[in-house]
Amino acid sequence: MEIKAIRGFNDLLPDEIGKWHFVEETARQIFEEFGFSELRIPVIEKTELFSRGIGEATDIVEKEMYTFTDRSGNSLTLRPEATASMARAYLEHQMYSFDPVAKVYFIGPMFRYERPQKGRYRQFYQIDAEVFGVSNPMVDAEVIVMLIQFLKKVGLENLELQINSLGCRECRPRYREELKKYFATKTFQLCEDCQRRLQTNPLRIFDCKVETCKDAIADAPQVTDFLCQDCQKHFDKVKGYLQEMGLTYLLNPRMVRGLDYYTRTAFEVVSYNLGSQNAVAGGGRYDNLFQEIGGLDIPGIGFAIGMERLISLLPAEKTFLQNPQLFIAALGEETQMQAYRLLSQLHLQGIRAELDYEGKSLKSQMRRANKLNAQHVLILGGDELKRGKAVLRDMASKSQEEIPMGGLLDILKERINRD
Ligand code: ATP
Ligand code: MG
Repeated sequence: MEIKAIRGFNDLLPDEIGKWHFVEETARQIFEEFGFSELRIPVIEKTELFSRGIGEATDIVEKEMYTFTDRSGNSLTLRPEATASMARAYLEHQMYSFDPVAKVYFIGPMFRYERPQKGRYRQFYQIDAEVFGVSNPMVDAEVIVMLIQFLKKVGLENLELQINSLGCRECRPRYREELKKYFATKTFQLCEDCQRRLQTNPLRIFDCKVETCKDAIADAPQVTDFLCQDCQKHFDKVKGYLQEMGLTYLLNPRMVRGLDYYTRTAFEVVSYNLGSQNAVAGGGRYDNLFQEIGGLDIPGIGFAIGMERLISLLPAEKTFLQNPQLFIAALGEETQMQAYRLLSQLHLQGIRAELDYEGKSLKSQMRRANKLNAQHVLILGGDELKRGKAVLRDMASKSQEEIPMGGLLDILKERINRD
């Protein structure tokens, strides 16, 4: 029987990989301009990093983690997100001893055992950025501005930035109690999961996709009405800085985010060009995370972008295929060595060149050059070659010229770089 990939795990094929490279390179470029450096984290961590960091009563920890026991009996988990690992690495390597402020990013696959559907997979890629060590609301705005700048730079349109404040250890408990009281009057409307969430983590009910739960949410108290003075001040400043940067946003008091560690600022970018999985990116401040994972009292803020969703939104007309700049069509067996030598020289000069391995007719070689969308074709053979010449065809203008074999490489480089 033919072996297939696991459900929810995708191959990224060569004809789509250009988009991925473009997105990754743009992220690296913009993030580095904003002062971020890459921090690469392992794929697997101790399970407790996530259960403590993300929170026991979250969907991720309750039902989405790929957890297994290794041969020594340790409980390990494939990372479902990057933030907890990034924070662990910052603590473990005492990055704060050099400079308490760290701006770091990471690009890589995450793993969650979810129901696979469009925009939702079991292995999916995230671009993640975090700032550790700054509690000033200015940095909340800075990371949001960086995120929007990046999304615009890759060409996304019709985006909506939604923001909220989730309060802190001082004010959120009061809100939780109010929420519990409210939902206690609606239990008959809540799904089984939400009835449980009502006890463990009532904020989670806002994320529920069940229709009757959505109805129950409609008149729920709003977290922003319960913020303590410090949280209110922080939120006002964030909004002020965003306005200063000319960013428009929508206040969404129902956006609670799926992870427990968020405090104060939370944000999401949604796209109206996506279906029901419409969140392209999400993030927020997490001033308690470091303490949850056993570290110092260090504030943090960051975001994660879902790459599959982002890539599905890229403008269709833009092509990202790396087509050959030159295709060498060699006619006759004697010219094969010449073609091979030329190909190697072109590659060493950084020119994307291809040749035909089959030694087929000129017609079939031209067909392949066309299929590969080659910019130029160099024809080696026939009478021209006997006269010490090769024929260079410009595939766009369909014009041809004869060029002398002596000095071929220089002329080719000149013609290719001219376009
Ligand atoms: P959702 O509400 O769609 O489940 P989330 O709140 O669980 O999203 P985060 O943990 O904030 O998502 O991750 C940030 C981004 O990663 C999301 O906005 C989304 O674009 C992407 N993402 C999350 N889960 C998946 C998945 N299973 N498959 C593909 N992309 C995902
Ligand atoms: Mg989710």
